[in-house]
Amino acid sequence: MKIIRTIEEMKNFSKNYRTEHPQKKIAFVATMGFLHEGHRSLMRQASSEADCLVVSIFVNPTQFNNAQDLQTYPQDENRDKEICLQENVSVLFMPSQNEVYPAKPNSYSNEKLFLDYPKLTSQLCGKFRPGHFSGVLWIVHNLLLWTNPHAAYFGLKDFQQFILIRQMAFDLSLQVDIRPAKLIRQENGLALSSRNSRLSEQGKESALRISQSLFAMQKKITKQEKLTKQEALAEWQKLLAGLNVEYADIYDAATLQPLPNGVHPTEAKNGYLLAIAVYIEDVRLIDNVHGGNIGF
Ligand code: AMP
Repeated sequence: MKIIRTIEEMKNFSKNYRTEHPQKKIAFVATMGFLHEGHRSLMRQASSEADCLVVSIFVNPTQFNNAQDLQTYPQDENRDKEICLQENVSVLFMPSQNEVYPAKPNSYSNEKLFLDYPKLTSQLCGKFRPGHFSGVLWIVHNLLLWTNPHAAYFGLKDFQQFILIRQMAFDLSLQVDIRPAKLIRQENGLALSSRNSRLSEQGKESALRISQSLFAMQKKITKQEKLTKQEALAEWQKLLAGLNVEYADIYDAATLQPLPNGVHPTEAKNGYLLAIAVYIEDVRLIDNVHGGNIGF
């Protein structure tokens, strides 16, 4: 496994790889480290569809709208390296903060290009994390240019993020296939997240209620044909009683707008998305289930 820490070297690697192996494919997985089974699953899917797997680890400060969340974000470089070795990663790209955000940019302006999708970010995490997706899109856009992969894989744990990245790649004509990867859970249902490591045992127990409520609601929605979005939401709110819920709603999976009240979720034109964000012990956890006519 090759470890690359500079943008220049990363760009050269991909350029040379593409020249030397014109028939071979580069796959890319972007992460913020503290790798878990969800990241491993992304890496395995990526490897199975390519010849060279590039993984990045970079905790991107501009996507954190909460300073404490950034400060407490878990990191363990040695453990991450070991996991990447086990997953046959070809290149581990770990640029420093200064490499990505040089103190003295060699440019005319200190402003950052702002990528904004007002409608797609008006709900879900975008509504509660101002500037978050602009930071995500800036770093993902640049990581895609530096690593120059044929395909890049993003987990549906971050459903809104996937939709936005795919839209950005289309709008900016990026020559890369943006591929979804399924959400990976613990056996007990808890969606895997690097942030789970900040929960106490009791917190982990409470967090189980998130996925349990999602599974219960999906069952209801698919079994009870006449259940409207409004009725489903009322049932769901009962299951969430006592939790510090930031948002929980049923959305159109393409427009990311809440479904109108009278609609039956499984009949939503572009598929449905039940998505939720909850604070447990000051840790923000997100989860979702989706279905219907989503198309991927
Ligand atoms: P992160 O390190 O949290 O920024 O995540 C890096 C990538 O891994 C993103 O594409 C995430 O959507 C994906 N990811 C994180 N957790 C999971 C999970 N439990 N299942 C599937 N993908 C995940």
